[in-house]
Amino acid sequence: MSLTLSVDGPRWRAHLESVADGHPGIVPVAKGNGYGFTLGRLARKAQWLRDRGHDVTTLAVGTYDEIPEVASRWDGDILVLTPWRPFVPPFDPKLTNRVIHTVSRLVDLEQLLALAPTARIVLERMTSMQRHGMSGRELWEAGEVLRRHPDGRLEGVALHLPLAQGNHLGEVGRLLNDYVAAAVPKQGKDTVWVSHLTDGELTSLCEQYGDFTVRPRIGTQLWLGDRGALHVTATVLDVHPVERGDIFGYRARTAPKSGHLLVVSGGTAHGIGLEAPTGDQSIKARAATLARGGLDAVGFVRSPYSIDGKQRLFAEPPHMQASMLFLPNGARVPAVGDRIDVRVRYTATTFDRIDIS
Ligand SMILES: *Cc1c(COP(=O)(O)O)cnc(C)c1O
Repeated sequence: MSLTLSVDGPRWRAHLESVADGHPGIVPVAKGNGYGFTLGRLARKAQWLRDRGHDVTTLAVGTYDEIPEVASRWDGDILVLTPWRPFVPPFDPKLTNRVIHTVSRLVDLEQLLALAPTARIVLERMTSMQRHGMSGRELWEAGEVLRRHPDGRLEGVALHLPLAQGNHLGEVGRLLNDYVAAAVPKQGKDTVWVSHLTDGELTSLCEQYGDFTVRPRIGTQLWLGDRGALHVTATVLDVHPVERGDIFGYRARTAPKSGHLLVVSGGTAHGIGLEAPTGDQSIKARAATLARGGLDAVGFVRSPYSIDGKQRLFAEPPHMQASMLFLPNGARVPAVGDRIDVRVRYTATTFDRIDIS
């Protein structure tokens, strides 16, 4: 009855181990829908990597609300990626020593240290992303604030870089120099937390900044980096033959030709959405499709479901937990209970079942 993610367990776990081996100090990122796997499962997998002896000491979550999802399934440190603000929800005080806050504004640094003098803190430096972070000048002032709060525990500097477009190293070098110049009081070796650097860039960074520990925060490449280990299927729930002109659906549409309506699992609640209409939508192209009797010309939209390797059309927009597809005559008609392939965006999909072999 389900939208199912089937995982080739041995292959997926081997991939996780190889990414962890290739990135010492890796900070697995478990946020949002858990990249399709759920946060709890990713936390357990991070623990598994740690138990297998990989260098994994910190798990990153996106928000403070996500801390309880991972805290009981993972026993290491928890870095919160969204910068601390005075209005973040409180978390279990027993976790105080495990939580590392990201701080991106001077006012927040002052306020956090006033509320929690021994807080563990990563200072975020603004990057070309322009999302959150301090300027070089603000980093310098943050150093002053930290000197006034000697119990605050500085855990390094964070840089959130845009997705790879050319080389990031020039930017990283400039931003790190600002941090070094700020001379913030540190404990032991300094750490830079980075995202979206290539393996080559990470290696160069480690060589150029030997007095820094480099901690790569990695989500997609870790959890979703071997797509061949993942397979998404939906179940055929019902099959109805239709003749041209028959009425169906919430909007009482008429079938443009004879064929079959398929009701399949997966709808808006799972994140199944309408995809772009097929092909070229110029008037000339539409006229040509109409002349050929193409179904997109009558307003059918391509769906993410495929049968026998061919992407199929939605008969109408997806429902909450099911979708209706139109299968024209001539195509093989699957049986109720058959599984069909679905192409999804993992970071936007909630599966009914996750089967890991
Ligand atoms: C989401 C996120 C990451 C991980 O991004 P991926 O592209 O999934 O590897 C790293 N750092 C920050 C700050 C993030 O928000």
